[in-house]
Amino acid sequence: MNCIIKKNLLSEGKTKKIYRTSNPSEVLIHYKDTITAFDGLKNEFIQDKGILNNEISTLIFELINSYGIKTHFIRKINNREQLCQKVNIIPLEFVVRNIVSGSMSKRLNVQEGIRLSNPIFEIFYKNDKLKDPLINDHHAVFLKIISHEELNFIYLIISDINNLLKKYFLSKNIFLVDFKVEFGKNCDNDILLSDEITPDTCRFWDKKTMKKLDKDSFRIGLKKEKDTVKEKVFDIYMEILKRLNIR
Ligand code: UDP
Repeated sequence: MNCIIKKNLLSEGKTKKIYRTSNPSEVLIHYKDTITAFDGLKNEFIQDKGILNNEISTLIFELINSYGIKTHFIRKINNREQLCQKVNIIPLEFVVRNIVSGSMSKRLNVQEGIRLSNPIFEIFYKNDKLKDPLINDHHAVFLKIISHEELNFIYLIISDINNLLKKYFLSKNIFLVDFKVEFGKNCDNDILLSDEITPDTCRFWDKKTMKKLDKDSFRIGLKKEKDTVKEKVFDIYMEILKRLNIR
């Protein structure tokens, strides 16, 4: 295995830092201990949350890679960092919904918890100034972000990922309510699943109790139990990791 030389910081987001490496086509992604909610208005520090998310995302990307779906993930390097292919992120967030929740419930005034007979795909335009608006395929193509062919390719991939993850999480007694994924293009122009898949980017409900096992515990907790919310969120993320580690 080649020795990885970590170089300068390439970019820093709310929950991760990206470093260049000695190989121009690879980056190191470092998971931080921050958690954000309400469009970044609430930003807190949860000790070692980055360690949990690095491990959770690693397990999920290893699973996806093992099914032959192309991702940026190469391997976990240490408890906070993973080696990934360097990609240019396509500025779109793809949301897949199996059960109504979150913004869809609010926008359409439909009850949270309704199970969808077919998954619903949504695209959000990653643009801070515009506050990441919901757009459709035609807008994305008009904005020259992506082609119709590339969108169709991504819809096939997210459908496969959803089928795979729904089954996988059900085997852990978890309903995969919805999740957000991002894609990027590597130096060969291949479209790769990128970013992370963690309780920050998915909604997980316990199959028996319907307890929320994801970032909603932070969003909701902030409104009523500020003192203990961080410990509770850590315990919930740890619970997800424990379930993923049970074979
Ligand atoms: N999501 C995300 N990042 C975002 C917005 C949403 O990871 O910037 C995830 C969110 O955790 C949930 C899914 O995408 O699993 C759908 O989120 P929704 O549109 O319901 O918005 P939210 O309720 O998170 O504002």
